[in-house]
Amino acid sequence: MKDVIVAKFGGSSLADSQQFMKVKKIIESDPKRKYIIPSAPGKRNKNDHKVTDLLYMCQQLAAHNLNFDEVYNIVKNRYTEICEGLNLNFDIHGILEDIKEKIRLGASRDYAASRGEYINGLILSHYLGYEFVDAVELILFDKNGKFDAKNTYEKVRSRLANVSCAVIPGFYGVMPDGEIKTFSRGGSDITGSIIARGVWAQLYENWTDVSGFLMADPKIVKNPRPIEKVTYKELRELSYMGASVLHEEAIFPTKEAGIPIVIKNTNAPDDAGTMILSDISPVEHTGTITGIAGKKDFTVISIEKTFMSSDKSFFRKLMTIMETNDISVEHMPSSIDSISLIVPASQLNSKLDKVVEEIRIYCEPDSIICYPDMALVAVVGRGMINTKGIAARIFTALAKNGVNIRMITQGSSELNIIVGIENKDFEKAIKAIYEAF
Ligand code: ASP
Repeated sequence: MKDVIVAKFGGSSLADSQQFMKVKKIIESDPKRKYIIPSAPGKRNKNDHKVTDLLYMCQQLAAHNLNFDEVYNIVKNRYTEICEGLNLNFDIHGILEDIKEKIRLGASRDYAASRGEYINGLILSHYLGYEFVDAVELILFDKNGKFDAKNTYEKVRSRLANVSCAVIPGFYGVMPDGEIKTFSRGGSDITGSIIARGVWAQLYENWTDVSGFLMADPKIVKNPRPIEKVTYKELRELSYMGASVLHEEAIFPTKEAGIPIVIKNTNAPDDAGTMILSDISPVEHTGTITGIAGKKDFTVISIEKTFMSSDKSFFRKLMTIMETNDISVEHMPSSIDSISLIVPASQLNSKLDKVVEEIRIYCEPDSIICYPDMALVAVVGRGMINTKGIAARIFTALAKNGVNIRMITQGSSELNIIVGIENKDFEKAIKAIYEAF
C-alpha cells in the first residue's frame, strides 16, 4: 500500500467559501492527503438548495424548451460567491456560460448533474494548487452503463502514477461513446473509494458533517455514543437496515483491497470519527454491541404445512412465486412445519392477495396468515460470537419494556440478532436495547 490518503469532501463540506477554507486547512495538515474528491456544493442551511438538484432542474426545464435563467443564476451565484470569498483569480464566468449553453442545447441529465462536481473540482484545484484530473479520464462505464472496474483501476493507476497531488471530481465518469454518466445520488463517495482502490491508498477519508456513525438513531435515542470502529461486514448489516452516512456501494472497492475508510467531520476535525476496517485486519472483539439499526413496515407471510421439509419442491415453488412477482424477501425464519417470509410492505403493495393465492395453489399449505405493520430491529456486533449473554440482555430489555417479540433470527455469521416486533413498539425497542448496553 502507498503512503497516500484519498480524501473525499461531501457537499456540506464545500457549500461555501468558509467551508472551502476549513477543507484546505484539513488537507494541508497532512501531506499524505494527495488525491482529493469533491462533491458539488450542498446545503448551507435547512432551507438551502443543493447545486446538483438545481442542475437537474435546469436540464428538465431546458428539455421542455422552458427558460431556466432563474434557476441557473442561483447556481452561478453559488460558485461566484465561493470564488470571490476565496479571492481566486479564475475565469469561472466563462465556464458557467459554456455549461449553460450546453444545457440549453439539450445536454443530457447526467451531463448537467455532473457539472456540479466538475466546477467545484476546478475551483478546489485552483485553491489548493493541485492538478485537476477530470473524472472522464479515470472512471469508466461500459456500453450498458455498468461500472467498468478493471479498466478503471488500470486507468487510475497509470494516469495518477506521476501526479503527486490532484483534485478529481466525484459522482461521474464516462461511457465508451464519450457520454457522461453519473453514479446514483450521493455517488461521490463511490468515486473516492474507487480512486483509493486504484492508487492503493493506505486510507480513504470520507469527510462529511457528522463525526461518524452513532450506535443508534439520534432521533430515537438521546445522545447515542459514536461508533469508533466497525468492520465492513457489521456496517453492511447496519446500513442495510437504514443507517446512512456513506453511500451503500462505496464500501466495495476499498473493502476488496483491505483499505480502511474513516468517516470524519469537516466541522469538528479533531473528533475521532468512525473507522471502517476490513474483516481481515485484526479488530479486537469487544464484549458489547457495535450498533442498533432498524426499519419499520414489513409484512410477514406465515405459512404452515405439516411435513414441509419432506416436500422437496416446496421451497423452490415458494421462491419462484416471489421471483415471478418481483418481490425480494428480507428474512426467512423457519421451523419444522412452518416458514415465515418477511417482506418490505412497499414491495407487496397490491400484490399481496395474488401472492397468497399463488402460494395456496402451488405450495398447498395447511394455512397462511399475513401480519402487517411489523418492524425489524438489528443488533449488530462482532463481539457476539465470543460473548455470552448478549442475546439474554437484548431479550430481557425488550421484555422489561413490554415489547412483544414476534420473531428472532441470527445471521449465520453470528454478527447480528434481528428481532421482529410491531411497528408501534419500534422506538421503544431501540431505546430499551441501547439502554441495556
Ligand atoms: N452531488 C451529488 C448528489 O447530490 C453526488 C454527491 O454529492 O455525492 O447526489
